[in-house]
Amino acid sequence: MTPSGPPAPAGARLDGIELVQVELPLARPWRTALGTITSRRVVLARAVLGGSEGWGECVAQPEPTYTAEWEEGAWAVLEAHLVPRLLAARPTAAADVAAALAPVRGHHMARAALEAAVLDAELRAAGVALADHLQGRSRVGGARRGAVPAGIALGTGADPAALAAEVAAAAADGYARIKLKVHPGWDVEAVQAARAAAPGVPLSVDANGSYAPLGIDGAAVALGALDGADLVMVEQPLGDDDLVGHAALAGRLRTPLCLDEALPSLGAVDAALALGACRVLNIKPGRLGGLLAAVAAHDRAVAAGAAAWVGGMLETGVGRAANVALASLPGFTLPGDLPAASRWWAEDIVDRPVRLLPGGVVEVPAGAGLGVEVSVPPAAVRRRAWHPGG
Ligand code: MG
Repeated sequence: MTPSGPPAPAGARLDGIELVQVELPLARPWRTALGTITSRRVVLARAVLGGSEGWGECVAQPEPTYTAEWEEGAWAVLEAHLVPRLLAARPTAAADVAAALAPVRGHHMARAALEAAVLDAELRAAGVALADHLQGRSRVGGARRGAVPAGIALGTGADPAALAAEVAAAAADGYARIKLKVHPGWDVEAVQAARAAAPGVPLSVDANGSYAPLGIDGAAVALGALDGADLVMVEQPLGDDDLVGHAALAGRLRTPLCLDEALPSLGAVDAALALGACRVLNIKPGRLGGLLAAVAAHDRAVAAGAAAWVGGMLETGVGRAANVALASLPGFTLPGDLPAASRWWAEDIVDRPVRLLPGGVVEVPAGAGLGVEVSVPPAAVRRRAWHPGG
Protein backbone atom coordinates (compact mmCIF):
# COMPACT_ATOMS: atom_id res chain seq x y z
CA MET A 1 0.00 0.00 0.00
CA THR A 2 1.25 3.45 -0.88
CA PRO A 3 -0.38 6.20 1.15
CA SER A 4 -1.74 9.15 -0.72
CA GLY A 5 0.73 11.97 -0.83
CA PRO A 6 0.22 15.63 -0.01
CA PRO A 7 -2.47 17.47 -1.95
CA ALA A 8 -1.61 17.79 -5.62
CA PRO A 9 -1.14 21.27 -6.99
CA ALA A 10 -4.11 22.48 -9.00
CA GLY A 11 -3.79 21.40 -12.62
CA ALA A 12 -1.39 18.54 -11.84
CA ARG A 13 -1.12 16.21 -14.80
CA LEU A 14 -1.15 12.44 -14.92
CA ASP A 15 2.32 11.20 -13.95
CA GLY A 16 1.97 7.50 -14.45
CA ILE A 17 -0.20 4.44 -14.86
CA GLU A 18 0.35 0.97 -13.55
CA LEU A 19 -1.64 -2.12 -14.46
CA VAL A 20 -1.82 -4.91 -11.93
CA GLN A 21 -3.36 -8.31 -12.49
CA VAL A 22 -4.17 -10.22 -9.31
CA GLU A 23 -5.72 -13.60 -8.66
CA LEU A 24 -7.94 -13.71 -5.59
CA PRO A 25 -9.39 -16.81 -3.95
CA LEU A 26 -13.17 -16.88 -3.70
CA ALA A 27 -14.87 -17.48 -0.38
CA ARG A 28 -17.04 -20.12 -2.06
CA PRO A 29 -16.93 -21.83 -5.46
CA TRP A 30 -18.66 -19.85 -8.25
CA ARG A 31 -20.72 -22.19 -10.42
CA THR A 32 -21.87 -21.21 -13.88
CA ALA A 33 -22.93 -23.05 -16.99
CA LEU A 34 -19.25 -22.89 -17.99
CA GLY A 35 -18.00 -24.72 -14.93
CA THR A 36 -16.84 -23.96 -11.41
CA ILE A 37 -14.09 -21.53 -10.43
CA THR A 38 -12.50 -21.13 -7.00
CA SER A 39 -10.51 -17.96 -7.70
CA ARG A 40 -10.87 -14.94 -9.92
CA ARG A 41 -8.36 -12.86 -11.83
CA VAL A 42 -8.89 -9.10 -11.80
CA VAL A 43 -7.11 -6.28 -13.63
CA LEU A 44 -6.60 -3.09 -11.62
CA ALA A 45 -5.33 0.28 -12.82
CA ARG A 46 -3.30 2.62 -10.60
CA ALA A 47 -2.95 6.26 -11.61
CA VAL A 48 -0.45 8.75 -10.19
CA LEU A 49 -1.37 12.40 -10.45
CA GLY A 50 0.52 15.16 -8.71
CA GLY A 51 1.91 12.78 -6.10
CA SER A 52 -1.47 11.28 -5.29
CA GLU A 53 -2.45 7.78 -6.37
CA GLY A 54 -5.81 6.33 -7.32
CA TRP A 55 -7.24 2.95 -8.21
CA GLY A 56 -9.75 1.65 -10.71
CA GLU A 57 -11.00 -1.87 -11.33
CA CYS A 58 -11.66 -3.47 -14.71
CA VAL A 59 -14.77 -5.61 -14.28
CA ALA A 60 -14.24 -7.73 -17.40
CA GLN A 61 -14.97 -11.37 -16.61
CA PRO A 62 -12.63 -14.32 -17.26
CA GLU A 63 -14.53 -15.25 -20.44
CA PRO A 64 -16.32 -13.09 -23.05
CA THR A 65 -19.75 -14.49 -22.15
CA TYR A 66 -21.46 -11.47 -20.53
CA THR A 67 -20.36 -9.02 -23.21
CA ALA A 68 -17.54 -9.30 -25.75
CA GLU A 69 -15.03 -7.98 -23.22
CA TRP A 70 -12.92 -10.37 -21.20
CA GLU A 71 -10.15 -10.02 -18.70
CA GLU A 72 -7.14 -11.05 -20.83
CA GLY A 73 -8.46 -8.98 -23.72
CA ALA A 74 -8.84 -6.00 -21.42
CA TRP A 75 -5.19 -6.26 -20.37
CA ALA A 76 -4.15 -6.42 -24.02
CA VAL A 77 -6.14 -3.37 -25.14
CA LEU A 78 -5.08 -1.37 -22.08
CA GLU A 79 -1.42 -2.18 -22.67
CA ALA A 80 -1.33 -1.61 -26.43
CA HIS A 81 -3.92 1.11 -27.03
CA LEU A 82 -5.52 2.79 -24.02
CA VAL A 83 -2.67 3.46 -21.59
CA PRO A 84 -0.35 4.90 -24.30
CA ARG A 85 -3.10 7.32 -25.40
CA LEU A 86 -3.83 8.37 -21.83
CA LEU A 87 -0.14 8.97 -21.10
CA ALA A 88 0.19 11.01 -24.29
CA ALA A 89 -2.74 13.21 -23.26
CA ARG A 90 -1.67 13.47 -19.59
CA PRO A 91 -5.09 14.66 -18.37
CA THR A 92 -5.42 16.76 -15.24
CA ALA A 93 -8.89 15.40 -14.45
CA ALA A 94 -11.00 12.31 -15.00
CA ALA A 95 -13.44 14.40 -17.02
CA ASP A 96 -10.78 14.50 -19.78
CA VAL A 97 -10.10 10.76 -19.86
CA ALA A 98 -12.97 9.83 -22.19
CA ALA A 99 -11.80 12.31 -24.83
CA ALA A 100 -8.22 11.01 -24.65
CA LEU A 101 -9.44 7.45 -25.23
CA ALA A 102 -12.13 8.32 -27.79
CA PRO A 103 -10.18 7.08 -30.86
CA VAL A 104 -10.43 3.51 -29.50
CA ARG A 105 -13.82 1.86 -30.07
CA GLY A 106 -15.56 -0.25 -27.47
CA HIS A 107 -13.67 -1.81 -24.54
CA HIS A 108 -15.80 0.08 -22.05
CA MET A 109 -14.70 -1.94 -19.03
CA ALA A 110 -11.03 -1.31 -19.77
CA ARG A 111 -11.47 2.43 -20.26
CA ALA A 112 -13.72 2.65 -17.18
CA ALA A 113 -10.86 1.29 -15.07
CA LEU A 114 -8.54 4.08 -16.25
CA GLU A 115 -11.13 6.79 -15.70
CA ALA A 116 -11.84 5.49 -12.19
CA ALA A 117 -8.14 5.44 -11.32
CA VAL A 118 -7.60 9.01 -12.48
CA LEU A 119 -10.76 10.13 -10.69
CA ASP A 120 -9.69 8.49 -7.44
CA ALA A 121 -6.26 10.16 -7.63
CA GLU A 122 -7.82 13.52 -8.47
CA LEU A 123 -10.30 13.32 -5.58
CA ARG A 124 -7.77 12.06 -3.03
CA ALA A 125 -5.59 15.02 -3.91
CA ALA A 126 -8.53 17.38 -3.48
CA GLY A 127 -9.82 15.68 -0.32
CA VAL A 128 -13.26 15.04 -1.85
CA ALA A 129 -15.28 11.84 -1.40
CA LEU A 130 -16.31 10.10 -4.62
CA ALA A 131 -20.01 10.12 -3.64
CA ASP A 132 -19.90 13.90 -3.17
CA HIS A 133 -18.14 14.38 -6.48
CA LEU A 134 -20.66 12.23 -8.37
CA GLN A 135 -23.51 14.10 -6.72
CA GLY A 136 -21.96 17.31 -8.01
CA ARG A 137 -21.76 15.88 -11.53
CA SER A 138 -25.44 14.88 -11.49
CA ARG A 139 -28.21 17.24 -12.54
CA VAL A 140 -30.63 15.45 -10.21
CA GLY A 141 -31.16 17.42 -7.02
CA GLY A 142 -31.45 16.05 -3.52
CA ALA A 143 -29.03 14.85 -0.92
CA ARG A 144 -26.94 11.76 -1.44
CA ARG A 145 -27.45 9.04 1.11
CA GLY A 146 -24.98 7.88 3.77
CA ALA A 147 -26.05 4.27 3.40
CA VAL A 148 -27.77 2.47 0.55
CA PRO A 149 -29.91 -0.67 0.39
CA ALA A 150 -28.05 -3.75 -0.79
CA GLY A 151 -29.45 -6.56 -2.90
CA ILE A 152 -27.79 -9.76 -3.97
CA ALA A 153 -27.76 -11.89 -7.13
CA LEU A 154 -27.73 -15.65 -6.68
CA GLY A 155 -26.23 -18.21 -9.06
CA THR A 156 -27.62 -20.30 -11.84
CA GLY A 157 -28.37 -23.71 -10.30
CA ALA A 158 -31.66 -25.29 -11.40
CA ASP A 159 -32.36 -27.19 -8.21
CA PRO A 160 -35.36 -25.92 -6.20
CA ALA A 161 -34.13 -27.20 -2.84
CA ALA A 162 -30.64 -25.74 -3.28
CA LEU A 163 -32.08 -22.43 -4.49
CA ALA A 164 -34.50 -22.26 -1.57
CA ALA A 165 -31.62 -22.79 0.86
CA GLU A 166 -29.58 -20.03 -0.80
CA VAL A 167 -32.51 -17.64 -0.82
CA ALA A 168 -33.33 -18.34 2.81
CA ALA A 169 -29.71 -17.66 3.77
CA ALA A 170 -29.65 -14.37 1.83
CA ALA A 171 -32.93 -13.32 3.44
CA ALA A 172 -31.56 -14.18 6.88
CA ASP A 173 -28.50 -12.05 6.12
CA GLY A 174 -30.92 -9.16 5.57
CA TYR A 175 -30.52 -8.35 1.86
CA ALA A 176 -33.09 -5.84 0.66
CA ARG A 177 -33.70 -7.60 -2.67
CA ILE A 178 -32.81 -11.03 -3.99
CA LYS A 179 -32.24 -11.70 -7.69
CA LEU A 180 -32.49 -15.13 -9.30
CA LYS A 181 -31.07 -16.25 -12.61
CA VAL A 182 -33.78 -17.79 -14.81
CA HIS A 183 -34.06 -19.32 -18.26
CA PRO A 184 -36.85 -21.05 -20.20
CA GLY A 185 -37.90 -24.09 -18.19
CA TRP A 186 -36.43 -22.70 -14.97
CA ASP A 187 -38.53 -19.69 -14.08
CA VAL A 188 -41.93 -20.33 -12.46
CA GLU A 189 -40.51 -23.14 -10.36
CA ALA A 190 -37.51 -21.02 -9.34
CA VAL A 191 -39.68 -18.07 -8.32
CA GLN A 192 -42.05 -20.31 -6.38
CA ALA A 193 -39.16 -21.91 -4.49
CA ALA A 194 -37.63 -18.52 -3.72
CA ARG A 195 -40.91 -16.95 -2.67
CA ALA A 196 -41.63 -19.81 -0.28
CA ALA A 197 -38.13 -19.55 1.18
CA ALA A 198 -38.25 -15.78 1.72
CA PRO A 199 -41.82 -14.50 1.97
CA GLY A 200 -41.94 -10.73 1.90
CA VAL A 201 -38.45 -10.16 0.50
CA PRO A 202 -38.52 -8.31 -2.84
CA LEU A 203 -37.53 -10.68 -5.66
CA SER A 204 -36.40 -10.10 -9.21
CA VAL A 205 -35.23 -12.37 -12.02
CA ASP A 206 -32.45 -11.97 -14.59
CA ALA A 207 -32.60 -13.96 -17.82
CA ASN A 208 -29.36 -12.73 -19.47
CA GLY A 209 -31.10 -12.87 -22.85
CA SER A 210 -32.11 -16.50 -22.59
CA TYR A 211 -35.71 -16.01 -23.82
CA ALA A 212 -34.57 -14.63 -27.20
CA PRO A 213 -34.90 -18.01 -29.00
CA LEU A 214 -38.60 -18.12 -28.02
CA GLY A 215 -39.38 -14.94 -29.95
CA ILE A 216 -41.62 -12.19 -28.59
CA ASP A 217 -44.74 -14.37 -28.48
CA GLY A 218 -43.01 -17.24 -26.74
CA ALA A 219 -41.28 -14.94 -24.28
CA ALA A 220 -44.57 -13.16 -23.54
CA VAL A 221 -46.25 -16.48 -22.70
CA ALA A 222 -43.36 -17.83 -20.62
CA LEU A 223 -42.73 -14.62 -18.69
CA GLY A 224 -46.42 -13.79 -18.47
CA ALA A 225 -46.62 -16.81 -16.17
CA LEU A 226 -44.59 -14.74 -13.68
CA ASP A 227 -46.91 -11.73 -13.81
CA GLY A 228 -48.73 -12.80 -10.66
CA ALA A 229 -45.52 -13.30 -8.68
CA ASP A 230 -45.11 -9.64 -7.70
CA LEU A 231 -41.54 -9.46 -9.00
CA VAL A 232 -39.72 -6.13 -8.86
CA MET A 233 -38.60 -6.69 -12.47
CA VAL A 234 -37.63 -9.13 -15.19
CA GLU A 235 -34.10 -8.28 -16.34
CA GLN A 236 -32.84 -8.66 -19.91
CA PRO A 237 -35.17 -11.38 -21.25
CA LEU A 238 -34.22 -10.87 -24.93
CA GLY A 239 -31.01 -10.27 -26.87
CA ASP A 240 -28.53 -7.51 -26.16
CA ASP A 241 -29.32 -5.77 -29.47
CA ASP A 242 -33.10 -6.12 -29.32
CA LEU A 243 -34.51 -2.85 -28.02
CA VAL A 244 -37.50 -3.04 -30.37
CA GLY A 245 -38.28 -6.55 -29.17
CA HIS A 246 -38.03 -5.49 -25.55
CA ALA A 247 -40.41 -2.59 -26.24
CA ALA A 248 -42.93 -5.00 -27.75
CA LEU A 249 -42.55 -7.46 -24.88
CA ALA A 250 -42.87 -4.69 -22.27
CA GLY A 251 -46.35 -3.94 -23.58
CA ARG A 252 -47.42 -7.53 -22.97
CA LEU A 253 -46.18 -8.01 -19.41
CA ARG A 254 -47.34 -6.45 -16.16
CA THR A 255 -43.96 -7.02 -14.54
CA PRO A 256 -41.59 -4.12 -15.32
CA LEU A 257 -38.75 -4.92 -17.72
CA CYS A 258 -35.18 -4.00 -16.81
CA LEU A 259 -32.30 -3.85 -19.29
CA ASP A 260 -28.65 -4.66 -18.60
CA GLU A 261 -26.62 -6.03 -21.54
CA ALA A 262 -28.81 -4.05 -24.00
CA LEU A 263 -27.55 -0.75 -22.50
CA PRO A 264 -23.85 -0.62 -23.48
CA SER A 265 -23.81 3.16 -24.02
CA LEU A 266 -25.67 6.38 -23.33
CA GLY A 267 -27.01 6.23 -26.88
CA ALA A 268 -28.55 2.84 -26.13
CA VAL A 269 -30.01 4.23 -22.88
CA ASP A 270 -31.61 7.08 -24.85
CA ALA A 271 -32.98 4.66 -27.45
CA ALA A 272 -34.36 2.26 -24.85
CA LEU A 273 -36.12 5.05 -22.97
CA ALA A 274 -37.50 6.58 -26.17
CA LEU A 275 -38.85 3.22 -27.34
CA GLY A 276 -40.30 2.23 -23.98
CA ALA A 277 -38.09 -0.87 -23.95
CA CYS A 278 -37.70 -0.80 -20.16
CA ARG A 279 -39.06 0.84 -17.03
CA VAL A 280 -35.98 -0.05 -15.01
CA LEU A 281 -32.27 0.46 -15.79
CA ASN A 282 -29.42 -1.66 -14.47
CA ILE A 283 -26.53 0.82 -14.46
CA LYS A 284 -22.98 -0.55 -14.42
CA PRO A 285 -20.04 1.85 -14.82
CA GLY A 286 -17.92 -0.80 -16.54
CA ARG A 287 -20.53 -1.63 -19.17
CA LEU A 288 -21.21 2.06 -19.90
CA GLY A 289 -17.55 3.08 -20.08
CA GLY A 290 -17.06 4.80 -16.73
CA LEU A 291 -18.50 6.36 -13.60
CA LEU A 292 -19.20 9.66 -15.33
CA ALA A 293 -21.26 7.94 -18.04
CA ALA A 294 -23.06 6.04 -15.27
CA VAL A 295 -24.02 9.35 -13.63
CA ALA A 296 -25.33 10.57 -16.99
CA ALA A 297 -27.36 7.36 -17.40
CA HIS A 298 -28.77 7.88 -13.90
CA ASP A 299 -29.84 11.40 -14.85
CA ARG A 300 -31.52 10.16 -18.03
CA ALA A 301 -33.42 7.50 -16.06
CA VAL A 302 -34.71 10.13 -13.62
CA ALA A 303 -35.69 12.48 -16.44
CA ALA A 304 -37.64 9.68 -18.13
CA GLY A 305 -39.37 8.57 -14.93
CA ALA A 306 -37.63 5.18 -14.98
CA ALA A 307 -36.30 3.38 -11.93
CA ALA A 308 -32.59 2.58 -11.68
CA TRP A 309 -30.18 0.51 -9.63
CA VAL A 310 -26.46 -0.20 -9.64
CA GLY A 311 -25.52 -3.62 -10.99
CA GLY A 312 -22.62 -5.79 -9.87
CA MET A 313 -19.83 -7.65 -11.66
CA LEU A 314 -18.21 -9.62 -8.82
CA GLU A 315 -16.01 -6.62 -7.99
CA THR A 316 -13.26 -6.46 -5.41
CA GLY A 317 -13.46 -3.72 -2.79
CA VAL A 318 -12.03 -1.26 -5.35
CA GLY A 319 -14.89 -1.51 -7.82
CA ARG A 320 -17.43 -2.06 -5.06
CA ALA A 321 -16.48 1.14 -3.22
CA ALA A 322 -17.07 3.07 -6.43
CA ASN A 323 -20.41 1.32 -7.01
CA VAL A 324 -21.62 2.09 -3.49
CA ALA A 325 -20.66 5.76 -3.96
CA LEU A 326 -22.58 5.79 -7.25
CA ALA A 327 -25.61 4.15 -5.62
CA SER A 328 -25.84 7.06 -3.17
CA LEU A 329 -27.30 9.25 -5.93
CA PRO A 330 -31.01 9.91 -5.38
CA GLY A 331 -32.25 8.38 -8.65
CA PHE A 332 -31.10 4.90 -7.67
CA THR A 333 -34.46 4.02 -6.21
CA LEU A 334 -33.99 0.23 -6.13
CA PRO A 335 -31.39 -1.76 -4.15
CA GLY A 336 -28.17 -2.38 -6.10
CA ASP A 337 -26.22 -5.62 -6.37
CA LEU A 338 -23.91 -4.57 -3.53
CA PRO A 339 -23.30 -7.71 -1.46
CA ALA A 340 -20.90 -7.91 1.45
CA ALA A 341 -17.29 -8.55 0.43
CA SER A 342 -17.25 -11.69 2.59
CA ARG A 343 -19.89 -13.17 0.32
CA TRP A 344 -17.37 -13.65 -2.48
CA TRP A 345 -13.84 -12.97 -1.28
CA ALA A 346 -11.78 -14.96 1.17
CA GLU A 347 -9.83 -11.73 1.68
CA ASP A 348 -10.60 -8.43 -0.01
CA ILE A 349 -7.82 -6.10 -1.20
CA VAL A 350 -9.10 -2.99 0.60
CA ASP A 351 -8.85 -2.00 4.24
CA ARG A 352 -12.59 -1.42 4.63
CA PRO A 353 -14.45 -4.10 2.69
CA VAL A 354 -18.19 -3.65 2.18
CA ARG A 355 -20.18 -5.02 5.13
CA LEU A 356 -23.91 -5.59 5.25
CA LEU A 357 -25.39 -3.58 8.12
CA PRO A 358 -28.69 -4.00 9.97
CA GLY A 359 -31.58 -2.97 7.77
CA GLY A 360 -29.95 -4.49 4.67
CA VAL A 361 -27.81 -1.45 3.90
CA VAL A 362 -24.14 -0.79 3.18
CA GLU A 363 -22.29 2.34 4.20
CA VAL A 364 -21.21 4.89 1.58
CA PRO A 365 -17.48 5.59 2.01
CA ALA A 366 -16.90 9.10 3.35
CA GLY A 367 -13.11 9.36 2.90
CA ALA A 368 -11.43 11.11 -0.01
CA GLY A 369 -11.73 9.40 -3.39
CA LEU A 370 -12.83 5.79 -3.07
CA GLY A 371 -12.47 6.08 0.71
CA VAL A 372 -10.58 2.80 0.97
CA GLU A 373 -6.87 1.97 0.96
CA VAL A 374 -5.78 -0.73 -1.48
CA SER A 375 -3.30 -3.51 -0.73
CA VAL A 376 -2.11 -5.42 -3.77
CA PRO A 377 -1.26 -9.02 -2.84
CA PRO A 378 2.51 -9.64 -3.09
CA ALA A 379 1.85 -12.50 -5.50
CA ALA A 380 0.29 -10.34 -8.21
CA VAL A 381 0.13 -12.27 -11.48
CA ARG A 382 1.77 -9.44 -13.39
CA ARG A 383 2.36 -5.71 -13.19
CA ARG A 384 3.51 -3.11 -15.69
CA ALA A 385 4.09 0.58 -15.10
CA TRP A 386 4.32 3.51 -17.54
CA HIS A 387 5.48 7.08 -17.17
CA PRO A 388 5.02 9.95 -19.63
CA GLY A 389 7.62 9.68 -22.34
CA GLY A 390 9.02 6.55 -20.72
MG1 MG B 1 -27.97 -8.78 -15.51
